[in-house]
Amino acid sequence: MICAAFGMIALGPDNLTEAATEFTDLSESHWAEDEITYLAERNVIEGYPNGDFGLGDHITRAEATSFLARELELTSSPPTFTDVDSGHWAAGSIGAAADAGIITGYPDGSFQPDEPIERDEVAAILDRAYTFDSALDAPRFSDVGRDAWAFDSIQDLAARYITVGYPDRLFHPDEFTTREEFSVFLARTLNESFTPVVTNPEELTVLVNKERSLPADYVPANLMTPEVYMFGTEKMKQAAGTALEDLFAAATQDGLQLIAVSGYRSYDEQERIFQNYAEQYGIEQANQFSARPGESEHQTGLAMDVSSSALSSGEYLSTEFAQTAEGQWVQAHASDYGFIIRYPEGKESITGYQYEPWHLRYVGQEAAQSINQHSMTLETYLGTE
Ligand SMILES: [Zn+2]
Repeated sequence: MICAAFGMIALGPDNLTEAATEFTDLSESHWAEDEITYLAERNVIEGYPNGDFGLGDHITRAEATSFLARELELTSSPPTFTDVDSGHWAAGSIGAAADAGIITGYPDGSFQPDEPIERDEVAAILDRAYTFDSALDAPRFSDVGRDAWAFDSIQDLAARYITVGYPDRLFHPDEFTTREEFSVFLARTLNESFTPVVTNPEELTVLVNKERSLPADYVPANLMTPEVYMFGTEKMKQAAGTALEDLFAAATQDGLQLIAVSGYRSYDEQERIFQNYAEQYGIEQANQFSARPGESEHQTGLAMDVSSSALSSGEYLSTEFAQTAEGQWVQAHASDYGFIIRYPEGKESITGYQYEPWHLRYVGQEAAQSINQHSMTLETYLGTE
């Protein structure tokens, strides 16, 4: 019996996350923690034998190559570089990556495996490994001109927000790459939910949060006003709006009256709302319950705040909603219609927001049911936490 119970616990997705590879020098607040953990859990990267990840250390050409070879599951192969003998710890990966055309080495036939790799070289090997292709024409970084040897690769990475450069808006192509920078490049390459700017806004499971914003000019296609009980004119994207109609109809059948309170909001509307709150409460406190422009799910057209007619209008968007018959019903049935309660109780450190029993987010039925069954957040479902 103990074994069975233990097995169940160990297999829960939350526990998988909890069992994350932990590095002694990596705190949860580190800017690259999620990306490093993501790659370590998938056995793509590893730290040092002493338990450190090696934050701040430059990643060597051999290390970068071996991580890529692992991720791509390349078959080990003997290297032909003049300075990599078969006894080198990464010899098989270096040979395999050369066979695959990912690395090329120097004109003199050497590879210099134990030298640090430059940022433009990382861009080039990622581009070769994952064959990026973009239509980004205007140079994105003023220190990477058209005559730069890795121009196309760096442009491709920039187009996908795999790199956004340094705060000075430069790419610093000739600088050595730290182990955490490499990890972030690779994690964003493998899972677009890590990019700081949303690149897939039309996907039903698009992730928008405090670390990942929508472009200011993004307006969803197919906005419609669902035919449900509401006071104003609230909009959602077609698929989400139709699902909301089904959800409301099912609640009505069970004798309950839901209200649609707030749906799609443009970037500009969100900017006005956030600014109002920020003036009232200060920026930091305001950001606990209100999103900065670009970081609001309401801009996706997939979110609707709902409430109960049992509450007074001042309480519509309060945790009181969870106590009403309508709030309980939503908790039990939302996922059947493809919705999740996006900011659940107890997950504030993952979502970045306090508990909002009223904020429904459409993700489609399959994702919603999986997220609901495992008491997950969208972040965990997408592997970014
Ligand atoms: Zn909301």
